[in-house]
Amino acid sequence: MITPRCTLNGMPMFLSADKKLKPCCFLNTSREYAEFITWGKQRGYNVEFDLDTTLHSINEIHNSPTWKGLIESFNMQSASPKTCERACGPGSYTSTTGNAKHSTFEE
Ligand code: SF4
Repeated sequence: MITPRCTLNGMPMFLSADKKLKPCCFLNTSREYAEFITWGKQRGYNVEFDLDTTLHSINEIHNSPTWKGLIESFNMQSASPKTCERACGPGSYTSTTGNAKHSTFEE
């Protein structure tokens, strides 16, 4: 089970250069975002469409299947994207603020 820094510790959302509102910066890099898209496809979510700020308001994005599915996945065993398991799962980094790596942290 993961301990989501986004919902529990206020990890900031991330607006990417291609105008997608992503749940956090960990999901922004090419590899991590590709995994997130694949995770969504496996569940019937259109991640690229759902997170597109040129098509939707922030409120609409937060109520999209992708966003809601991600939040719901936090309560299920091994149901979240691999990035969430790595960044917020058992054995992930610790920090003084509980969210970003730029705070003092120990590996
Ligand atoms: S990696 Fe996943 S669980 Fe962790 S802060 Fe980002 S969206 Fe939330």
